[in-house]
Amino acid sequence: MPPRLLSHTKNFSTLLLTWYAKHKRDLPWRRGARDPYRVWVSEILLQQTQVTTVLPYYKKFLARFPTVHALARAKLDTVLKTWEGVGYYARARNLHRAAKEIRARFDGKLPTTVAELQTLPGIGRYTASAIASIAFDRDAAVVDGNVTRVLCRFFGIRRNIQLAKTKTTLWDLAAALVPRGRAGDYNQALMDLGATICTPRNPTCARCPLTRACRARRLGIQEKIPIKTKKKKLPHYVIGAGVIYKGKQILIAKRNANDLLGGLWEFPGGKRERGESLPACVAREVREEVGIEIVVAREIAVVPHAFSHFTITLHFFECRYRRGTPRALECAECKWVAPRALARYAFPAANRKMIQILNQRL
Ligand code: SF4
Repeated sequence: MPPRLLSHTKNFSTLLLTWYAKHKRDLPWRRGARDPYRVWVSEILLQQTQVTTVLPYYKKFLARFPTVHALARAKLDTVLKTWEGVGYYARARNLHRAAKEIRARFDGKLPTTVAELQTLPGIGRYTASAIASIAFDRDAAVVDGNVTRVLCRFFGIRRNIQLAKTKTTLWDLAAALVPRGRAGDYNQALMDLGATICTPRNPTCARCPLTRACRARRLGIQEKIPIKTKKKKLPHYVIGAGVIYKGKQILIAKRNANDLLGGLWEFPGGKRERGESLPACVAREVREEVGIEIVVAREIAVVPHAFSHFTITLHFFECRYRRGTPRALECAECKWVAPRALARYAFPAANRKMIQILNQRL
């Protein structure tokens, strides 16, 4: 760590730990006896989701899969259905794969070191360090968005946080700051401070335990730090999908395991090509995906949706089956189901909005 920063660390961890003892958030995975499995599940849920959103999903997931063994035994479809609504489904698939690996390689117990934890699917450096410190008292540092913001502001680091060099500086700084034997509480204190006090906008410096020594506050530049390059405009895609009826049944298709949203079910469809009309897009996509001919009738819903790297507008069309036997050509599986049975399958968010509309008609 650069000596300029090191000289500014006095009392940093002590101030944070004292503050944490009084103000830590009451979160379910922090209650009762420490359980590495619960810590792991909570950290995976928190990877891309805010704490308040996570809470009901955490409860539901733990009720359904209370142990590593229960998760390892479960079918992927059941895991995805339980995860439904919280998004970023790769997390659920990785949890499931990792549970099987923990059962096979670690006798059903989470490994305790950062290096071993990082060998499991879905566990990177941050998550491994968080689990190792919180569940196993390892002296491991964490750096995520919250920690980056607190460190950059407190130490007055005015460098682009997206640069590899700055990231290395932050990990080095975080490692040097970890109080030996207290890493779990200290890391959670940093996470809590970043989430509740040192927030991206309007940080409440008056209530911050670090306020007297914080460089950004002293210079009045809290909101200008951390520095990052402006986000690029996300690409946008127009998608056409068919709610295909054969009598009273509807055709659904399961996405290929390695695709985005892999393992989830959907109404067949895909990206509109340049110059193509939406009905033509739906007919072509259905032919390519499940090998049947349909009559595309009328548009029944338009659903916008944002992913982390692109946005879509999904146009749903009511369609009628014409001929052919559905085959999984560009999907993992396809089947006819009664509208009431749709609730049994895990669907991505935009498709669930379409199902809500269908349910209103039942
Ligand atoms: S004083 Fe303000 S800017 Fe500095 S760490 Fe605390 S909340 Fe963040």
